[in-house]
Amino acid sequence: MSDVAGLHARLRADLLQWYDHNARALPWRVGPDARRRGERPDAYRVWLSEIMLQQTTTVHAAPYFERFTHRWPDVSALAQADDAEVMAAWAGLGYYARARNLLACARAVVRDHGGVFPDTEAGLKTLPGIGSYTAAAIAAIAFDRPANVVDGNVERVMARLHAHRSPLPAAKPELAALAALFVTPDRPGDWAQALMDLGAGVCRPRSPVCEACPLAFGCAARSEGQANRYPLKAPKKARPHRQGHVWVLHDSAGQVALVKRPARGLLGGMMGLPTSEWVQGQDEPALKAPAPVAADWQDAGSVEHVFTHFSLSLSVHVARGTGDFDWKPVDEARAALPSVFRKALERALASL
Ligand code: SF4
Repeated sequence: MSDVAGLHARLRADLLQWYDHNARALPWRVGPDARRRGERPDAYRVWLSEIMLQQTTTVHAAPYFERFTHRWPDVSALAQADDAEVMAAWAGLGYYARARNLLACARAVVRDHGGVFPDTEAGLKTLPGIGSYTAAAIAAIAFDRPANVVDGNVERVMARLHAHRSPLPAAKPELAALAALFVTPDRPGDWAQALMDLGAGVCRPRSPVCEACPLAFGCAARSEGQANRYPLKAPKKARPHRQGHVWVLHDSAGQVALVKRPARGLLGGMMGLPTSEWVQGQDEPALKAPAPVAADWQDAGSVEHVFTHFSLSLSVHVARGTGDFDWKPVDEARAALPSVFRKALERALASL
């Protein structure tokens, strides 16, 4: 065995041993002890957790995961779910295209695969909403396939371990190639999760805890004394800013007027409040957009929200009135609305 291969083997063995004693208890995880006793992960739970974790942290995702699996305990149950109910349960997790794909995927698994998830990366990638990363994660964690599971955490660990000098995002393929050197048929699911846990709790983005790290003995960034410097990053482009209006219409029975957003596009298929176009720069016609119905509209201030590709300021207007809308009691509206509209609703209610 070459020196490099020997170092990799030792790093791998030490990280797996660390994982055996330090694995996080997560509601979708079958930990190392349970695996040794022969327990296998449920592909449905692994898939659901991976889709949720694409856009949020384990702490934020956990209660959503518990609610989803309680309400829809397996892929067949989810495939038969009511679209609106799933979208409402997803509210607060952001990126609603993922919730739509979640349903499409569950239905494809039932329709095309007899209710059983494919057990290879290639098979998983044929399903809606499952890209390369998610396919690799499910293949490794649910089916113990030797897949190279590379997310931002793994890129960071690899960049530090090797003191890799080219910046992200261009360095992604190089960091993935470095990560691939550690993938073997021995415990691939545990290896993927061990790296995730190391990235989340030890090799953290801002303050890595090198003194508690099982890889410290072989880490180039640590021996340079510059763990925080990696991964190098190319300068970011500024996020564009958009603005618009949102109208909160309420009636004498304490209900709020909602609208269903078009199926395609941002927040597609979700419930929303009536809103103008969201425009970048000083687009006066759009900024003076007409209210959805005539009423005694009052200015309720504004709310800010940050999406992945732009930030948004919405001027909030509130009035009592009637009209052809989907009227919901305030609590139901809160539960059904995505965060940006929920903020606007709270702003309007606070102004009354
Ligand atoms: Fe990350 Fe520090 Fe461990 Fe290197 S030694 S992998 S920088 S936590």
